Amino acid sequence: MEHKTTGDRRKLNWILTAAVIAFAALAVAVCFLLRPKTGAADRFVIRYGDGRSIEVPAWETRTIVIRNGEIAERETGEDEENVIRIENGEAWMETANCPHRECMKQGKLSAETVRSRPLGTWIVCAPHRVYIEFAGDGQ
Ligand SMILES: [Zn+2]
Repeated sequence: MEHKTTGDRRKLNWILTAAVIAFAALAVAVCFLLRPKTGAADRFVIRYGDGRSIEVPAWETRTIVIRNGEIAERETGEDEENVIRIENGEAWMETANCPHRECMKQGKLSAETVRSRPLGTWIVCAPHRVYIEFAGDGQ
């Protein structure tokens, strides 16, 4: 009888332990899923013209037009033009009229993609000398 009780208690302890571990794992999973997509300090540095640059926080939603090495009011498709889009922590070259549009093929730049992208933290439009760099926390 006593033996059975000890066995039951062990079983109960095991179930409680498993429940605690399962709950902890669930809590970690929830925190992971609810984590902010971008760090507070994440930003994009856009370099253009002769050594000029602007910084845009990664959480902003913004379209930036650069034409002939200058920030432009709006897109016209004329001369040397790049249109950069920043949205949901991602930056990409939305349109560009450079010869082979390589910059448009470089995909989206974000905290999540920097490790898997061939160009890492950069999107480069070499013909127009327009560069987007991802700068994360502490960088
Ligand atoms: Zn380009």
